[in-house]
Amino acid sequence: MSDLHLGPITTEQDWFNSNDLEEMSRVLDERSYDSRRWQLFACACCWRILPMLDERSRRAVAIAERHAEGLADAEEVEEALHLAHSAVLTIWQPGTSASLQSAAMAAHYAIVLPQRSYHYAARATGGGEDAERRVQADLLRDVFANPYRAVHLDPAWRTPTVLAIAADIYQNDTFAELPVLGDALEDAGCDDPIILGHARHTCPHVRGCWLVDGLLARTLEG
Ligand SMILES: [Zn+2]
Repeated sequence: MSDLHLGPITTEQDWFNSNDLEEMSRVLDERSYDSRRWQLFACACCWRILPMLDERSRRAVAIAERHAEGLADAEEVEEALHLAHSAVLTIWQPGTSASLQSAAMAAHYAIVLPQRSYHYAARATGGGEDAERRVQADLLRDVFANPYRAVHLDPAWRTPTVLAIAADIYQNDTFAELPVLGDALEDAGCDDPIILGHARHTCPHVRGCWLVDGLLARTLEG
């Protein structure tokens, strides 16, 4: 029996308890559509099913991630579209594993319609779909933060040490090092329990993590 927390989200507590990706999406879209974050979230979901993706799909997801960061040019995006589509056509044959088909679709959506990618990434896990959706909900919270409460990052906390650690985490994809960033933030004078708690106790963190992004001013609000 599923222990997913499904249903309408009307409070901050609902947001933190929910595993209902569709309902969480609705809450986020009511506030504003952030294409960069949706694409980073889609890529994070696809990286979790990496063993199920062929080389074409992997390359497409890598380009989708670069696209989210404004690093992929039109030629690369065209390449990703071609590769992802080609992978779907190859795998979408009678008798092929439904999980592998869903995985190829997840990579395809990461480049063409990122907001639907997670759905296929979860289905790709077959019997593990409910468990995967729980992880995906955590990933979504990491990338989009709490839509019910804005977090203020005091400029005084952006010390050279804090920024160096955040940049290192971002550039080297070492998001497991967030607790180190939490210590540096506390040393810089941060006593915000939400921020320190996110750095020290929340996992997983992925590219697009609201705290690292916020410190590196990779968000519109800076
Ligand atoms: Zn995070």
